[in-house]
Amino acid sequence: MEENEHAFFWIKSEGERKLATENLVPGNQVYKEKLIVKKNIEYRLWDPFRSKLAAAIMNGLEYFPFENKSKVLYLGASTGTTVSHISDIVGKNGIVFSVEHASRVARDFLDRVASYRTNIIPILQDARKPEEYFSVFGKVDIVYVDIAQPDQTKIAMDNCKIFLKENGYFFLVIKTRSIDVTKLPKKIVEEEIKKIEKNFEILQSIDLHPFDKDHAIVIAKNKN
Ligand code: SAM
Repeated sequence: MEENEHAFFWIKSEGERKLATENLVPGNQVYKEKLIVKKNIEYRLWDPFRSKLAAAIMNGLEYFPFENKSKVLYLGASTGTTVSHISDIVGKNGIVFSVEHASRVARDFLDRVASYRTNIIPILQDARKPEEYFSVFGKVDIVYVDIAQPDQTKIAMDNCKIFLKENGYFFLVIKTRSIDVTKLPKKIVEEEIKKIEKNFEILQSIDLHPFDKDHAIVIAKNKN
C-alpha cells in the first residue's frame, strides 16, 4: 500500500485492529458507527461491510490517492456512508462533489451528512447528464463511481472525460450481477476493464468478498 499518512488509521477496538478516519465533525455519527477518542482526537470506525472503499483497503488496495485537500467527484452518493469517510479524509480544504439521482435518498444524505460537512457539495442529478452538474468547478483528482447500473462504465467514462484531471485516478465499483446475471463475475470484470483500457492505465482490480458479495472495484489512472 502506498502509505498515505493521516488519510486513514488503524485503531484497536474490542481486541481487533480496525479501520477509522478522523471525524471532521466531532460528535457526529453518520451510520451509527462507533466513535473513539484517542489523545483528544475523535475517530469514526470505518465499516468494510458497509463501505466498499473500506472493503478494498481490507482486501489489499495498493493505491490510495485520497488525501488532505483532494477534489473528488463521487457518483452514487446514496445516504453518504462512504462519502462521509472521504469527507473526513480530504478535510476542510478538500471537496467531495456528490451526485445522487434518487430524491428520497438524497434528502436523507442532505439531512444526515451534507448539511454537517462543508466540504461536500451535493448534486441531485442523473449521472448520465454530467453537463448538467452546474456546481462542479475545475477538474478533480479522483472520480469514484458506485451507481450499480448496467451501463455504469460508459456513464463513468463520460464523467471522467469532462471532470478528471490528467493522471487523475478512477475508482469503479462493479456490481457484477447488475450488468449480466448469467455471466461469471470474473468475466464481467474483465469485460468492463476492456472498455476502459483504451483511456486508462489499469492499476488494480479487487474482489470485495467477504465484505461484499458480487462486487469488485477497479482502480485506474487517466492517460488523457
Ligand atoms: N456509494 C454508496 C456507499 O458506499 O455508501 C452506495 C451506492 S448505491 C450501491 C448506488 C446509488 O447510486 C444509489 O443510491 C442510486 O440511487 C444511485 N444511482 C443509480 N443510478 C444513478 C444515476 N444514473 N445517477 C445518479 N445516481 C444514481
